[in-house]
Amino acid sequence: MSNNKPIIVANWKCNPLDFREAKKLFFAVARKTKGNKGAEVVICPPFVFIPFFMERKGVLRLGAQNCFWREKGAFTGEISPFMLKGLGVEYVILGHSERRNYFREDNKTINKKVRLALSSGLKVILCIGEKLTIRRKGKRAVENFLKNQLKAGLEGIKGKELKNVFLAYEPIWAIGSGRACPWEEAEKIKIFLKKVKRLPFLYGGSVNSENARDFIKRAKVQGLLIGGASLKPKEFAKIIKESVL
Ligand code: PEP
Repeated sequence: MSNNKPIIVANWKCNPLDFREAKKLFFAVARKTKGNKGAEVVICPPFVFIPFFMERKGVLRLGAQNCFWREKGAFTGEISPFMLKGLGVEYVILGHSERRNYFREDNKTINKKVRLALSSGLKVILCIGEKLTIRRKGKRAVENFLKNQLKAGLEGIKGKELKNVFLAYEPIWAIGSGRACPWEEAEKIKIFLKKVKRLPFLYGGSVNSENARDFIKRAKVQGLLIGGASLKPKEFAKIIKESVL
């Protein structure tokens, strides 16, 4: 994050399917956010689109949605953070709930990824978040769960390297559900987690142009992680506008 500007991160996930669509989306976002100086906008497309966008990104920043925990070698299908850094990628999202769920990434694996990504010079957006079943157990259960995820994700990371870590609180029940966490609740979680580790705090989970401002201006989070709405250039540009007003 530069100069305390909010950081607005677009997680395209496994979208769009073809290169033409990806270019259309990227250039629409670039066009609509061209005059923006108030926010740091990070686009995290699928790996395959990154080299093309890198040449044409203008003021947009590029991030990846994942990386491997070993530098190089016989690891078929994997992408090293050093490869990403070499391309000019600045950020990597790690620990996303979809990686934890569909790819069985546990805290240990995520910690290994975080360490290697930081040593490659990438900035890490570390995602944590609780399931609805934990939320139903109450505040203490949520806090304990998040504290453990955060501590495990950052194990062994100290000093200067921590300056390159951004924490993204993404309650799983809010992701893609259209049911964002109330900003008051996100603010309380932010205050709690800052006591565990002072890191820039991002919120993610059903952010849209109607609620973005509440998170940035009322809950005073340092940024937003956006999935679904980042695939709609008009809506995404509106979110940025609302965040810098
Ligand atoms: C996400 O998956 O990181 C996310 C925030 O998704 P959505 O905005 O669609 O809830």
